[in-house]
Amino acid sequence: MDYKGYCVKCKEKNVKMEDPKLVNMKGKGTVKRYAVSGTCPKCGTKMFRIVGAADAEAFKKAN
Ligand SMILES: [Zn+2]
Repeated sequence: MDYKGYCVKCKEKNVKMEDPKLVNMKGKGTVKRYAVSGTCPKCGTKMFRIVGAADAEAFKKAN
């Protein structure tokens, strides 16, 4: 599955993340938040994209 995000260094939207990983972010209280973390294929800058629970499940199944 492709995950696209914004690279702050290239100032480019819809950059396909390289080596995407699902990360667990601690929200307030018991709220679980997920994000996909990857790197920009052009400059190697770390990219983050917040995803919903459904997307997180889809990511687990796809990987
Ligand atoms: Zn970049």
